[in-house]
Amino acid sequence: MSIIVQKYGGTSVADTMHIQNVARRIIATKQAGHQVVVVVSAISGTTDDLVKMAYELNPCPAEREMDMLLATGEQISIALLSMAIAGQGHDAISFTGAQVGIETDRSHTKARIVNVKAARLEEALTQGKIAIEAGFQGVTDSSDITTLGRGGSDTTATAIAAKLGAELCEIYTDVAGVYAADPRVVAGVRQLKRVSYDEMLEMAATGAKVLQLRAVEYARNHGVRIAVKSSFDDSEGTLIGEVEETMEKAIVSAVTHDADESKITIFGVPDHPGIAATVFRELADEHINVDMIIQNVSEDGITDISFTVPGEDLVRGRAVVDGLVGTLEARGSACDERIAKVSLVGAGMKSHPGIAAKMFEILAEEKINIDMISTSSIKISCVISEDEVERAVRALYNGFGLGQEFQAKE
Ligand code: ASP
Ligand code: MG
Repeated sequence: MSIIVQKYGGTSVADTMHIQNVARRIIATKQAGHQVVVVVSAISGTTDDLVKMAYELNPCPAEREMDMLLATGEQISIALLSMAIAGQGHDAISFTGAQVGIETDRSHTKARIVNVKAARLEEALTQGKIAIEAGFQGVTDSSDITTLGRGGSDTTATAIAAKLGAELCEIYTDVAGVYAADPRVVAGVRQLKRVSYDEMLEMAATGAKVLQLRAVEYARNHGVRIAVKSSFDDSEGTLIGEVEETMEKAIVSAVTHDADESKITIFGVPDHPGIAATVFRELADEHINVDMIIQNVSEDGITDISFTVPGEDLVRGRAVVDGLVGTLEARGSACDERIAKVSLVGAGMKSHPGIAAKMFEILAEEKINIDMISTSSIKISCVISEDEVERAVRALYNGFGLGQEFQAKE
């Protein structure tokens, strides 16, 4: 019998009516002849509410206590869902991360899974039960509860699917799948049918919120096929997996954006070996995630270095840089929160020149100034002003014909 792992996000279990609906879907999957393991998120809003309460009581709550607190959200959902399934006449049993043996490292609030045991899940399946597992949480080798970072239930589901050798990992959410652009920005946006792991990785890393980046990494490393679907209808959703080499690849599959980026600049640093090493080593040691980096051409042995960080790392990043200005004999530093990143992602870009040129032309036509640029073999990102990002997304979506399944080759 094949195993299906289904993950339901917070909006899919928003209240008892939604939980009943999810219970019906799970039962239908079992009745179709599958063994079902379900991973659930906290009821939508719960994790945010808990975070808010914590900060009301303490501006700097201990991360261990934060994990103890946040893990409770998922525990509510698994118990309620199990009761709902039993109420509809089927056997279900719920488990916490610790009970199932989702073992993580000790980096509280952003722990990484190091091992999945899953013996209790296998036992429940053998007994013919539906197994329900709390997403987002794990346990350390010293029995402390950890969480996997916001959106971490996606990673729980992927890790369990890998461990159990599931046929498919279905991620149920409140949208119908993965889109060629953010549906809140582009009206009538096209949904993608298939996305390769590499494309999905770039998309998740450049602002697509539909899946946690780590879940995609885990899926690629372990060959887990993921389907992103809506829990509100029966549409097919988007399949994420290996795309056969023989398939014609879209040149550009999607345009993504991320308004939650900030830029930090160090002015007037002496241009000699070791400066960049010093700056980025200190940032790395503080676990600050640096994205794009630009160093200007130096004039009279003096240069500027700019880089971008996620919004949540700005304050700490700025502190590191301010601390370095004196040591490096730099002229000063500045930061700009009003920037955003817009990116094009597509597996076919590799073999197709001219995409960057066309992207810059489209932005130029919109009179949008490009501040920084970075590329990978299947992605081009531009940093622009935050106020212009939605206009940029729409212009690129239209300019590259992303509304059509196959774009005209030029
Ligand atoms: N409840 C957690 C969050 O809101 C984890 C998840 O939903 O995946 O981030
Ligand atoms: Mg999510």
